[in-house]
Amino acid sequence: MKHTLCLVLIAMGMGLPQIAFSQLNIFACEPEWASLVKELGGDRVLTTSATTAHQDPHRIEARPSLIAKVRRADLLVCSGAELEVGWLPMLQRQTGNRKVLAGQTGYFEAAQWVDRLGIPEKVDRSMGDVHASGNPHVHLDPRRLLQIALALNERLISLDPSNTQHYQSRFEGFKHRWQMALERWQRLAEPLKGMRLVVHHQDWDYLFDWLHIEKVGALEPKPGLPTSAGHLAKLKQTLTEMPASAIIYTHYQNPKAAKRLSQLTGIVAVELPYTVGGGEGVTDLFTLFDVTLKRLLKVKS
Ligand SMILES: [Zn+2]
Repeated sequence: MKHTLCLVLIAMGMGLPQIAFSQLNIFACEPEWASLVKELGGDRVLTTSATTAHQDPHRIEARPSLIAKVRRADLLVCSGAELEVGWLPMLQRQTGNRKVLAGQTGYFEAAQWVDRLGIPEKVDRSMGDVHASGNPHVHLDPRRLLQIALALNERLISLDPSNTQHYQSRFEGFKHRWQMALERWQRLAEPLKGMRLVVHHQDWDYLFDWLHIEKVGALEPKPGLPTSAGHLAKLKQTLTEMPASAIIYTHYQNPKAAKRLSQLTGIVAVELPYTVGGGEGVTDLFTLFDVTLKRLLKVKS
């Protein structure tokens, strides 16, 4: 449901007319989408994120507080490609809010708007594969993120056409700043080309695709499966033949496995932010990429 916000402007002690406008109530599944919604919606949207950078978005409990938020939402903005399959469909069913069900205008899946990487030829769910519809961690390629922003801008307009001009102008402003940042990041990241890294989970594929970084191995034998001593021994062997610059993990992943492999191989383990709020100074999508590149460049130097 829309909320009406009244702003009373008072300048120089003189009362100016009240300006009233409605706000779209938006439920973002992850902090990166809450951040994008704020960029594109400004004061016409009221945004909440279901998860923080400290939580694994694959594994969230469908708490009553989340059900209440979905019930009130005009729009859900999620990664999709089954990232939230363990908790979101249950929330959608329990709320009775039909406008945010899959297939409705009130449900936006970011992964639908980009070329997805890692679509498996054969899915074996008995093996715990959580990337059955391809890799859902799409926000870590800023080129794809801009495609998603364009689609999200259109969705906001279709849900709230009376504010078309507002959304269009915010999107144009975001696009301009993002393209400038993209050029800067690409110049900065030039030395990272060809860098070899080990990951904890397969959540960096889009960043690597953008920067031409090579993934040498993953601590999880398959996405979503915990590592084992046998798997670490195999990784150690691979790394002897094909050394890597670092083992990367995120804030919400237990660093134990990365640190164990680091002890076994002498390769440094590095935490990267992954999403907004995932590290010091990572307050929005721009600083997410600034800090990620800074940390990778530090490893490289
Ligand atoms: Zn994943």
